[in-house]
This record gives sequence, structure tokens and C-alpha cells, in this order.
Amino acid sequence: MSESYVIIGDGIAGSSAAETIREEKPDADIAVITDEGEALYNRILIKEFAKGKLPEAPISIHEPEWYDERDIDLELNTFVTDIDPDAHEVHTHASGIYTYDKLLVATGGTPTQLPVDNSDADGIHHFWTFQDARRIAEHAEASDTGTVIGAGLLGIDLAAICAAQDVEAKYIMRGNRWWRYGLSLDGAEIIHDALEEKGVEPVLESGVNGFKTDDDGNVVATIDADDNEYESDFVGIAIGLNFNTEYLQGSGVETDNGVVVDQYMQTNVDDIYAAGDITRFYDVILDEYAQNGSWGSAKQQGVIAAKNMVADDEEEEFRWVSSYSITHFDFPFLSFGFPTMGDDECEEKYSETEWRRLSFKDGKLIGGVLIGDIAPQGKYKDLIRNEVECADQKEILLEKDFDPDKLAPQQEQ
Ligand SMILES: Cc1cc2nc3c(=O)[nH]c(=O)nc-3n(C[C@H](O)[C@H](O)[C@H](O)COP(=O)(O)OP(=O)(O)OC[C@H]3O[C@@H](n4cnc5c(N)ncnc54)[C@H](O)[C@@H]3O)c2cc1C
Repeated sequence: MSESYVIIGDGIAGSSAAETIREEKPDADIAVITDEGEALYNRILIKEFAKGKLPEAPISIHEPEWYDERDIDLELNTFVTDIDPDAHEVHTHASGIYTYDKLLVATGGTPTQLPVDNSDADGIHHFWTFQDARRIAEHAEASDTGTVIGAGLLGIDLAAICAAQDVEAKYIMRGNRWWRYGLSLDGAEIIHDALEEKGVEPVLESGVNGFKTDDDGNVVATIDADDNEYESDFVGIAIGLNFNTEYLQGSGVETDNGVVVDQYMQTNVDDIYAAGDITRFYDVILDEYAQNGSWGSAKQQGVIAAKNMVADDEEEEFRWVSSYSITHFDFPFLSFGFPTMGDDECEEKYSETEWRRLSFKDGKLIGGVLIGDIAPQGKYKDLIRNEVECADQKEILLEKDFDPDKLAPQQEQ
């Protein structure tokens, strides 16, 4: 009998796993189950669609025929309710039971709701799916005023959508700057200025107490932490993700704000693997458990999980330096590795739109943020990959035209 592989989630992690399994096992049964109504699309690009800058077509990655051609059973609109590891079964709300020899959990997360009055009013948006993007595009286009809540990498997409759709928006942040875990005030000010130039006003050291609605239940105003009222017929919220692990309750699969996996993407339960945003994975470069919400990392985890799911003996570990870029402004922005972790850091501002920050752990570079000039990213990523001890050479590392050859040779361990 051929082996059967079931993958829950058709995001980039699940889909790249399905593709890899098919390449490695031409005769295996493969099923991909997703609660979304469409096959894999480029989640990174849905913001460009919501801005009104890109039509639908280029965002789709796989048409249903892609699965047919590879003899992969794609189940759309199918919600997984629970799994039974003893029986090797996946239970769904409507299309019955799937049995597996190996299972991949790749269900990512769902945006967190803001726990304040009227946060479910019409006109308040969270942003994760293509369907969300369609609603956001339509509503932003028809809106004059708006607020954005959530000072992170997704919140800024919503702010950029307001700017592109000519919505006069306030960007409400709790701290004194955008992405306070990744940027100092110096770095964040470059972003604040760029937002203002686009007509989005940062409101700092604030928060949201609630929303006002009209008689039809549409949002009309946002009330901030100081009881200021901002007219807003459009609201975008991005305050984090809740990982989609409910269906694993009672299965014995270890979770810890995500599914815990080792460097081979294997959970603590036999024959069950996980990949993508949902994992809390053992990072072999950091030497500790970590999480990562980026496209490239999710794709590579899907590939590694698949290789280990089909492997008889030799296992391949996940060893990856991720990056996440923002292209909303006249200057580029790139975060790489783990810029918010570590025990040491350094930074430099080179001009009004150029800034760099590097983070270290145990004397080694582990991540950073580049604003304005992202050309040195490859050199920094190489240092991370090669686990080079360099925290004592910050001046050289921060030179504008950083040259790795100037670093002192590594001592033999
Ligand atoms: C607007 C936006 C912009 C982004 N921009 C960038 C960027 O510029 N760069 C970057 O690197 N990353 C970016 N990201 C993050 C990146 O898209 C994610 O890290 C990546 O898509 C995660 O892939 P995944 O396969 O792990 O999860 P997902 O893509 O979330 O896929 C999980 C799938 O599982 C499904 N699912 C969940 N529960 C169930 C269930 N019980 N039954 C069946 N199906 C279920 C979900 O509906 C979903 O389709 C962005 C994300 C968003 C939303």
C-alpha cells in the first residue's frame, strides 16, 4: 500500500511541503486540507492588492489544476476540528475523516481581536487572508478617514493602504515609536517622518479605549487612551496573531504559544510534524527555541518537514536566516534574523533616511534592521550563518561600506 500524507493548511508552508513530498514520493497519497476557499496565493502581495496597486491575478500562486497535475487531493473550505494520533486520523467539520501515515500541521495564525467596546463593528478590519484584502480594498476606497492600531510589521501595511487609498489616517501606537522592539527612536523617526509624508499621522504613547458606531453598527470614531475621539470610517487592527492550535487540544501535541518542534520540524508525537508561522522551533544557530513569521522561513520549514516526513533515516535540520522587507516608502527597509532577541546591540544613523541596527547573542551577530541601504544584508547574514564571534568589533560592523575582510580572524574553538 502507498503511504499517505495529510497536510493541514495550504499556506506557503503546507503547499511547499506537499510539493516536496510529491517530488520525493511519486506514488504516495497526499491530501492538503484548508478552510480557505482558494488555493495558495501570495500572502505578501495582498497588501499591494488592498492598496489598489495590483490586480487579483498575479497574487494567485496555485490554481486547483496545479494539485490535479501532481495528483494531490486539495480540500478547500474544509475546517479541521480535531485529530486522533492513536488512530492516525484527521477529523473535519464536513468532509469526514482522513487517515495518515505522516501528518503536517501548517495552520499558521489568526489575527488577535482588540478587547475593547465595539471592536467587532462593521468597518473594523483585521488582515490575514485574500478575502480580508478584498474587503479592505473596497472599504478603504470608499473611506475618507481612518485609524490604524498595532505598531508592527503588519500594522504598517494597513497604514500604507490608508495612504495609498487617500484615507486620512491616524496611526495609534502604545509606545513612543513604531516597532519599539526592533527600532530605537532614531530608527523609528525615519519611519514616522515617512508616514507623515504620506498623510498618516502617528499618535504615540496612546492606545484604544473603544469605538463609536452609528445606528447601523458601522464604526464612525476611534476613542484613544486619553479619550480623544478620531473620526474613522475605516479601522485597521494588527496587534498580533493567535496560533491556530485549537484542533490539537487533547492530542498530546506539545504547544507553547505555537506548536513546539525540534530542528527537524517534528513534534513530540510520532508521525506529526509542523511547519510555518505556527511553530516554536529549535533554532540551531541561536541554540534556543524561537518563532518566526515570515514567508521565506515558512516555505523552508515546509520543505524541511516534508523531507523528514519521507526520510527513512537521515534527517535534515532547519538552518535558516530569515528576512522581512517593507517597500512602502522611497527608501528600503529590511529586518533579518532575530533583531528583537539577544543580549547586546549597536546602531548608527548615517543620514535622514539611513540607519542600521545589529543585535548580538553570546558575542555573535543574530539579527538586525537596515533602513535606507539594504545592500550589506548578505554580508551580515553570512556572519549569522557562520556563527562568527564579532560583537567586539562593532565599529567595523557599522562602517557604511562594511567589509567582512576587515574583521579580525576567528580564534579556533
Ligand atoms: C498582509 C500580510 C503581509 C505580509 N508581508 C510579509 C512580508 O512582506 N514578508 C514576509 O516574509 N512575510 C510577510 N507576511 C507573513 C507571511 O505571509 C507568513 O509568515 C506566511 O504566509 C506564513 O505561512 P504559513 O503557511 O505558515 O501560514 P498561513 O499562510 O497562515 O497558512 C495557514 C493556512 O491554514 C489554514 N487553517 C488554519 N486553521 C485551519 C483548520 N483548523 N483547518 C483547515 N485549515 C486551517 C488557514 O486558513 C491558512 O490558509 C505577511 C503576512 C500578511 C498577512
